[in-house]
Amino acid sequence: MVSRVIPVETFDLVIFGGTGDLARRKILPGLYRRFCSGQMPSDARIIGAARSDFGTSEFRDLVRDAIHEFSEKNDCDECNIEEFLAQLDYVTIDAKGEGGWSELKAMMRNDVVKAFYFSVAPSLFGAIAERLHMNGISDADSRIVVEKPFGRDLVTAKALNGDLAAHFDETQIYRIDHYLGKETVQNLMAVRFGNILFEPLWNAQYIDHIQITVAETVGVGGRGEYYDRAGAMRDMVQNHLMQLLCLIAMEPPSKYDPDAVRDEKLKVIRALEPIAPHHIVRGQYDATETEQSYRDDAGDPKSRTESYIALRCQIANWRWANTPIYIRTGKKLKARASEIAVVFKETPHSIFGEEAGTHANVLRIRLQPNEGMTLQVTIKEPGPGGMRLVDVPLDMSFADALGDEDDVPDAYERLIMDVIRGNQTLFMRGDEVEAAWAWTDPLINGWTARNDVPKLYDVGSAGPDDAALMLKRENRAWREIKE
Ligand code: NAD
Repeated sequence: MVSRVIPVETFDLVIFGGTGDLARRKILPGLYRRFCSGQMPSDARIIGAARSDFGTSEFRDLVRDAIHEFSEKNDCDECNIEEFLAQLDYVTIDAKGEGGWSELKAMMRNDVVKAFYFSVAPSLFGAIAERLHMNGISDADSRIVVEKPFGRDLVTAKALNGDLAAHFDETQIYRIDHYLGKETVQNLMAVRFGNILFEPLWNAQYIDHIQITVAETVGVGGRGEYYDRAGAMRDMVQNHLMQLLCLIAMEPPSKYDPDAVRDEKLKVIRALEPIAPHHIVRGQYDATETEQSYRDDAGDPKSRTESYIALRCQIANWRWANTPIYIRTGKKLKARASEIAVVFKETPHSIFGEEAGTHANVLRIRLQPNEGMTLQVTIKEPGPGGMRLVDVPLDMSFADALGDEDDVPDAYERLIMDVIRGNQTLFMRGDEVEAAWAWTDPLINGWTARNDVPKLYDVGSAGPDDAALMLKRENRAWREIKE
């Protein structure tokens, strides 16, 4: 099946921090792929704006190198990279000063969509928003895109929201969480609300529990100092895992519309119960003969920041009463695997007797690698020898179902095109982010006050033993972490 590409309206996209790591690794190669797919109009322009004293040709050189280095699927032969680069400009700008703003204003066109991507440290968000407004560069139709981290607690998130709201309406603000741009995440909504099969079973009566896992094999690497101030809770749970939890647990919105969807997500976050200490397991990876420990990587031998966390979450509403949602994420685990598993209850009565064993349907939604879904169903084991049951997956990997996986845009590409189209459905609203921090803050404050020390876990393992015990106490087990 060939995906249909509908070109977007023409635009001027300014990337603040256009020379930075995120712009080079994700944003610019992503835009190049949209150009190659025919989605980016030939008169659209991308303007890099950063501190480096570059000319346009130096910026184009940097982007050419970035595309060669980071474009995962080698599209470079397929279309003319120079044509794409010709649509790029650059302006040297001082986010906190006056330099560059009048030049930027002179470069912008009036009759096109104007979008401003803040790919810079959050401490610059307010200054940039103010200068865009004060210099008359943005208008009431302009869009701004902001990156994570959106605050480090409720107070700082509110301050950031306030800084942006001083100059932009909420309908103009696109808070990116690239997890929401993943094909599978949107497919989760299609599966839940586009089929009659699942929704009648999607509740405490038929679902035993849900597991959300985001496992990484990498450590904190060169980001040790930054990561040590955040930890897995702030870096992954408050944003990415929380968004996945919302989509899996929310009520059906009345329509697929930004506020209808985000209203339902917000209700889920607000219904999350506080978590008791014995339902929180924090861990740190230990040293091996060849690798450093988390504390070495963080540069703090006494660090109490978690590189792993597992939580037993509970949503206080009718749909999910007594149905735990277990979430876990960590670094240096045994495999890179992100998935949501919806584990259904066993049949109320087995007609096949005890020897048939216990079986439960599992809907497994894989986010990476190999985005796709499988539904585990129970069938008769083929062959003679009586009625033996076996669990087999009904597999729907996108590559197989939809043809060439290269046609599926990656998360950043899709989200940037949504910004140009003015569709906020897959972006976090300000009140959602604040509600997420309001739930997260007391948990972090709680373990800080208790002087909780993270449990050590082996590199290449599934995390600390305590996380396995937490589920074992409830006669459940984590699903295996595997690619
Ligand atoms: P970076 O340090 O690599 O780049 C920062 C960019 O900002 C550079 O282009 C620099 O010139 C520009 N800049 C800095 N100070 C400036 C100033 N005063 N005026 C004008 N320009 C200035 O950072 P990055 O890794 O690209 O991250 C950018 C943002 O994206 C941060 O908020 C980060 O948290 C977020 N983010 C990054 C990643 C990633 O993978 N790098 C992932 C998720 C979120």
